[in-house]
Amino acid sequence: MSKTIIVSNRLPVKIQRNEKKKLEYHSSAGGLATGLGSIYKQGNNLWIGWPGIVTNKKEEKAEITQGIQKESMFPVFLTEEDIRDFYEGFSNETLWPNFHYFNQYAVYEPRLWEAYKRVNRKFADEIIKKTDPDDTLWIHDYQLMLVPDMIRKVHPNVSMGFFLHIPFPSYEIFRLIPWRKEILHGVLGSDLIGFHTYDDMRHFLSSVSRIVGLSNNQGQLVVGNRRVMVDSFPMGIDYDKYAEAAASPEALEREVHYRISLGDQKLILSIDRLDYSKGIPQRLQAFDMFFERYPQYRNKISLILVVVPSRDQVGKYKELKEEIEGLVGRINGKYGKINWTPIHFFYRSFPLGELSAFYRMADVALVTPMRDGMNLVCKEFIASKINRKGVLILSEMCGASKELSDAILINPNDLNQIVEAIYRALTMPEEEQILHNTNMQNSLKRYNISHWVDLFMNSLNIIKEMQSSMQTHKLDDLSLEKMLKEFSKAEKRVIFLDYDGTLTGFVSDPREAKPDEELIDIMRRLAKEPKNSVVVISGRDKDTLQEWMGEFNVDLIAEHGVWTREHSKDWKTVVAMKNTWKKEILPVLELYVNRTPGSFIEEKDFSLVWHYRKVETGLGELRTRELTSHLKYLSSNSNLQVLEGDMVVEIKDREVNKGRTALQWLQSHEHDFVMAIGDDFTDEDTFKAMPKDAYTIKVGSVTSAARFNVNTYKDVRNVLKAMLAY
Ligand code: UDP
Repeated sequence: MSKTIIVSNRLPVKIQRNEKKKLEYHSSAGGLATGLGSIYKQGNNLWIGWPGIVTNKKEEKAEITQGIQKESMFPVFLTEEDIRDFYEGFSNETLWPNFHYFNQYAVYEPRLWEAYKRVNRKFADEIIKKTDPDDTLWIHDYQLMLVPDMIRKVHPNVSMGFFLHIPFPSYEIFRLIPWRKEILHGVLGSDLIGFHTYDDMRHFLSSVSRIVGLSNNQGQLVVGNRRVMVDSFPMGIDYDKYAEAAASPEALEREVHYRISLGDQKLILSIDRLDYSKGIPQRLQAFDMFFERYPQYRNKISLILVVVPSRDQVGKYKELKEEIEGLVGRINGKYGKINWTPIHFFYRSFPLGELSAFYRMADVALVTPMRDGMNLVCKEFIASKINRKGVLILSEMCGASKELSDAILINPNDLNQIVEAIYRALTMPEEEQILHNTNMQNSLKRYNISHWVDLFMNSLNIIKEMQSSMQTHKLDDLSLEKMLKEFSKAEKRVIFLDYDGTLTGFVSDPREAKPDEELIDIMRRLAKEPKNSVVVISGRDKDTLQEWMGEFNVDLIAEHGVWTREHSKDWKTVVAMKNTWKKEILPVLELYVNRTPGSFIEEKDFSLVWHYRKVETGLGELRTRELTSHLKYLSSNSNLQVLEGDMVVEIKDREVNKGRTALQWLQSHEHDFVMAIGDDFTDEDTFKAMPKDAYTIKVGSVTSAARFNVNTYKDVRNVLKAMLAY
């Protein structure tokens, strides 16, 4: 039985020594751990990562390994040096600042890079020990970007996803890293690469194109012989957990308790980890400006400022903490009264119960990071608004802003705009607040954390299926020999041949592509043999096809399947409108609706329409191309046409395609050997319509629904000649 392995730098467990020196294990209640719980706790599945404790003692390592085993976790032990150079060093002083557009803080030191490689190797080695060839792996985040390729080298067929939880910077920033190419190659070992937003994926694809030289097609890259899909999956929260916590009697009790001390003033809430990417000093400056500009609010509002301690031994963070303390002191000193404190500052972290009371009672949440991969605090605030009153002010620089367009969006560098946003938030009518929060709650409920996990895993399955169905094999001597044997034994052989690119090469003027002597000879001899039924299946118009091929004893299918002609009979066209295909396509469109906030489906009698007018700019266009290609791939036996309209994609009965006509032809003719050769995407329909044991041959590419591939039309002629000579 294959299993799924989750990998992240840190395991979702906290290990501590109690007074009796015994190890105690507390599992993490973080969103990611909850979301992935549905995976790693099942069957033989596992979560591999650092257990968060440094030890050199063998017995202690064994004890920890055993202790977390029942929680389906497996440890990778890191040394002090690993943590200093790999985690605090390269991960947090090179990748973190660069990826958050704080390049002035980034350190580019070969020693740290060596540590990053060494520890990624350490992770990869442990993962490899635990991995079987048909397992599924999901690697998380910026600390482990080299791991996918290290694993791919050992397990070429393993199914592997990677998700980046922080932003991916634009090419101009990313290129500054001396080891940029190695980092991209590392990630490209995955089959599916996920980001929070469409912009992050776009930046990644642009870096891949400019640094590695691989261009993408609808978010798909071909890395060696493997198709890799790049996509955005905005991460959600455990919505019910926050909604329920806020609705609990404890939260209400706490609110009442706080309110007794605070009075009826309005509250603005700010919650972040201590980090320069969060824009805390700028927020405080804007708050100061607000009191300058709107003095009537002095005495009437307070800011609850929660800063969660983080890395405050590191110089930059220490300075930031001091800066925040200085600003808080200055503002409180400037405006404070005996009975009123403008800023209540907490430098510590709170458990869910207390956090929930803050979310519940705050009138405004001020979430203004300079850069943030997603930001969960803003989502948690909205989920906690049981009465749907409250206003979210949100930085357009965080991933969540792409989904929460009902918030007041601001540019965190524009202090003036923040001041006005605070004023607008404080004066917003309640009906308007409720309207916006209802919209945001509906979206957050639907796109919650388990939805995110399911979408990622489904997409990984889709790309794996696509990879296996699109993998062709070279038509080598052995396969040719086998085919020739079957061919010679068969009595009713059917041979479908595309024309341009398959039987002839391409010429600049298509009218010049008429059969040369060699081809005429091949066709004549092939068609003369009574055991052979030769069908030329082409996109060409019927007159040209008849002019060039009519003299041979062959059947013709013209205009991609619109017209058929048996031997020297008349041309026929068969059209029968049906809409049974809708049952098949509807779930696919629903998948796209699930992945694309703002989109919806319209069902008509003979068509389905996917609307994306309300979708984030750029994402709709991208999904359109993706949807079009997905539908092309799926519709081998159905007659669908995909039309791109004004902010819509319409799928309707196309009536015919090569595959459908070829299939009809096969159904009405007896056969014991089937072969189909073609070179372009319209021939993919033919390949897919063929029986499983048919000899389908793609000319010129290794990725196709065909079983085999050859290089050029000359190889095709050689194959046909070999059949004639056998
Ligand atoms: N958080 C917490 N206690 C606190 C403050 C914050 O548990 O006192 C949690 C908060 O609920 C949220 C997370 O910390 O889930 C912060 O996530 P976010 O994505 O907003 O920021 P990050 O720290 O990951 O950059």
